[in-house]
Amino acid sequence: MIHFIRELFFPEVCVVCNRPLSTGEKIICRKCLYDLPLTHYEFDNKNALARQLQVRTKLHKAIALMFYGKFLSSSKLIHALKYKGRKEIGPLLAQYLTEPLSKDPPDIIIPIPLHPEKRKLRGYNQTEGIAQTLANELGSSYHNEILIKTLHNPSQTKKKPLERDRNVQKVFDVKNKNLIRNKHILLVDDVITTGSTISHAANELYKHGAGKISVACLAFKKD
Ligand SMILES: [Zn+2]
Repeated sequence: MIHFIRELFFPEVCVVCNRPLSTGEKIICRKCLYDLPLTHYEFDNKNALARQLQVRTKLHKAIALMFYGKFLSSSKLIHALKYKGRKEIGPLLAQYLTEPLSKDPPDIIIPIPLHPEKRKLRGYNQTEGIAQTLANELGSSYHNEILIKTLHNPSQTKKKPLERDRNVQKVFDVKNKNLIRNKHILLVDDVITTGSTISHAANELYKHGAGKISVACLAFKKD
C-alpha cells in the first residue's frame, strides 16, 4: 500500500536524467538509452579492452557494452547499480551483450566476487545479476562459488613493495577446480578500469586448469 501511494506521488524517474518515465520505459528513458556511450565492440581479441587485458593475462576474447567516464551517462547507471540498490540495471544492460556473445558462447560464466563482508554490507553483488542474465540467455552454466575473494579492501599504499606483491597474488581463491578444467570461462564485471582485478582472477583460474578465459563488462574506462 505504501509503495502504491509513493508511486502515485513520486512516479519512477530515469536513472540518468531524472525525468519521469513514460509508459513502456523501464529504469532509463528512451532518449538516455539512445545516448548511451556504447563501444560497439565485437566479442573479439582486437578491441581496446582485449588489448589492454592481454598485457596482464592470456585472454581469449573480451567485450564491453559502454565506455566509462566521470561525465558519461554510464557512470550514473553504474553508481545506481552499485550503491543505490538498483540491482535491476545489471540484467537490463546485460541483455545488450547477449547477441555478440552468442557467436562464441562460453561453457561457464563467473561473476567477479565481492569479499563476503562487503557483500553482506551491500546486501548484494551487483555483478551477479549481469552474469546470471548472460548465463540464462546463452545457455551457459552460472557459477558464483568457484571464484572466492579472499582479501578485504587491500590497503595497498601502506604496504612495502614486497608485501604489496604478495598481497595482490592472494586476492582470489579457486574452489571446485574440476568444474573449470579445459573449459571456456567468461568472467563478468560491472566496470573495468585498469583491468588489474579481472586479470588476477583470470590468472588464478588458469593456474587451476581453465582452458580459455574471456571477459565481459558493462563499462570500460579506456586509457
Ligand atoms: Zn533519461
